[in-house]
Amino acid sequence: VTIGVPRETRAGERRVALVPKVLGKLSARGATVVVEAGAGAGALIPDEEYTAAGAEIGDPWAADVVAVVNAPSEEQIGRLRSGQVLIGFLSPLTDPQIVQKLRGAGVTGFAMESIPRISRAQGMDALSSQANVAGYKAVLAAAEHSTRFFPMLTTAAGTVKPATALVLGVGVAGLQALATAKRLGARTTGYDVRPEVADQVRSLGAQWLDLGIDAAGEGGYARELTDDERAQQQQALEEAITGFDVVVTTALVPGRQAPRLVSAAAVEGMRPGSVIVDMAGEAGGNCELTEPGETVVRHDVTIVSPLNLPAAMPEHASELYARNITSLLELMLADGELTPDFSDEVLARSCVTREEEGS
Ligand code: NAD
Repeated sequence: VTIGVPRETRAGERRVALVPKVLGKLSARGATVVVEAGAGAGALIPDEEYTAAGAEIGDPWAADVVAVVNAPSEEQIGRLRSGQVLIGFLSPLTDPQIVQKLRGAGVTGFAMESIPRISRAQGMDALSSQANVAGYKAVLAAAEHSTRFFPMLTTAAGTVKPATALVLGVGVAGLQALATAKRLGARTTGYDVRPEVADQVRSLGAQWLDLGIDAAGEGGYARELTDDERAQQQQALEEAITGFDVVVTTALVPGRQAPRLVSAAAVEGMRPGSVIVDMAGEAGGNCELTEPGETVVRHDVTIVSPLNLPAAMPEHASELYARNITSLLELMLADGELTPDFSDEVLARSCVTREEEGS
């Protein structure tokens, strides 16, 4: 079986689906990897590193399996043929047309977003691996834009108090944001609508902000709030946010617009020089004044909404993603043959379209 690794073409993307380090595991299972020339360039991996690890340089779209980071463009889908397997972030919930087109082309697609969040599949959980990168980077962006120190400083010129940082939405990205802000010396607080994360927040040395709303939904995700709950939450947050130098927001509900947590009034209530990093920009943003992809200053508060944060750390983001893809491939690859067992929950749930279904 051959596995193709294309060069990613989405604007600003610097990640690559497989890195040389994982190729040994794939060749041990009888797979040959075909890398497009320059596929690793964004992550600073030259073609020679791939060939030294046993890969060929060639047309990745002709391979039996194509591994990508981002869903393919229309033109790229046009290069796929019936019976091929495509693995990557295929956005089945946010852009269902892509899956439709893959189905039309007779391609079997596995969406990394749809890997079940169960213990056995943790090694394949690309949402988590990339959220970790994003949570870390978001805090660095906050520090970059802050007019104040994160750590407490005791200097000959006097003492500086530590910054206070609030993380709204404490899933994987939020936990990493709390840990990173703590490492930089901030006093940290976490908030979520899933009360079960309170202990995880405290274990990172952060305080837990309790606003009395329980919106734990299915599968460990949050559900959408009712209108009443949303109003109550915005009001309570408006008061709570005032005291923080830094707010990092990560709140998401799968397949929905990001919940609005931070109102314009809440921003106005913050101290001048404070920073909000809104990690939910791709889903519309958690803050009313967010402009996705932009950095704006409103009421003397800097609101940063970076898109595709994992691409800003392409080396480690690619390495972690490549391990996720490899773990998934190992589940269906033996003796050079690809034999997915669709009675396996992980494959059944991540498979978003299958060749036999036809168009
Ligand atoms: P996510 O990116 O979907 O959402 C981020 C956070 O936003 C979540 O914690 C969510 O509860 C929160 N949120 C949503 N609406 C909110 C609101 N109105 N106000 C405040 N917060 C709100 O989440 P994620 O990081 O993908 O994690 C989702 C779940 O998956 C978690 O339970 C996590 O522990 C679990 N998980 C399990 C595994 C595993 O067992 N293999 C791996 C990773 C994650």
